[in-house]
Amino acid sequence: MTTRNLFYEDPYLKEASAKIIEISDQGILLDQTIFFGKSCGVKPDTGTISNEKGIANVVNVLRSDKGNIHVIDENPGFGVGDEVNLKIDWDRRYAMMKHHTTLHLISAIVWNKHGVLVTGSDITPEKAKIDFDMSRNFTKEELKEIEDQMRKIIEEDHPTSAEVLSIDEVVSTPGLIRTKNNILPKGLKEVRVVSIGSVDRQADGGIHVKSTKELGSFKILKHKNKGRGIRRLEVTVF
Ligand SMILES: [Zn+2]
Repeated sequence: MTTRNLFYEDPYLKEASAKIIEISDQGILLDQTIFFGKSCGVKPDTGTISNEKGIANVVNVLRSDKGNIHVIDENPGFGVGDEVNLKIDWDRRYAMMKHHTTLHLISAIVWNKHGVLVTGSDITPEKAKIDFDMSRNFTKEELKEIEDQMRKIIEEDHPTSAEVLSIDEVVSTPGLIRTKNNILPKGLKEVRVVSIGSVDRQADGGIHVKSTKELGSFKILKHKNKGRGIRRLEVTVF
């Protein structure tokens, strides 16, 4: 049995119930979960798992073939088969969902304008960093243009959606893989593809806000030359 990933069905679920199906040295496996693991630069969710035996803090979420493994600070006596309540730190998660959608939009804007790929990203609730395979700095005008386009896209309120495509379709469609290093695991048959209105469509395992208006205000905080042909943008939405 593998864990049902409720966060894909509804990324806005803050609480849910679940059943413990396995407990290992690493942590707890559940029949279903709202805890998202690390992906696309997003940090794993934190939160709590509880029942009448007590409450445990989820301090990390590891990915495994069977499903997400919930790493807890201390087991209050949970056993396999226990029904438990799940609760994620919603404010933290929602801020990271917003930053994740933001980075997809920036990667689309930069791809369309400059044709450069993403080499890495890092997302926290406070800000997001995105690195481009780019051998020169963005000019002041180009940075302004990115900000202007972001604000326009947010205002236009594009909805996000996800679909599952075959690996063959994904690799034969130009632009669906926007990272320099192909991060698709070997042997994969199907790939989740996320669209943001008419702005962006790319292979992605992450979760996003419903529509771009939720991003609010957008700002580029910093532009850095990271050396080795990498330029970094630090951005935030608030
Ligand atoms: Zn992503």
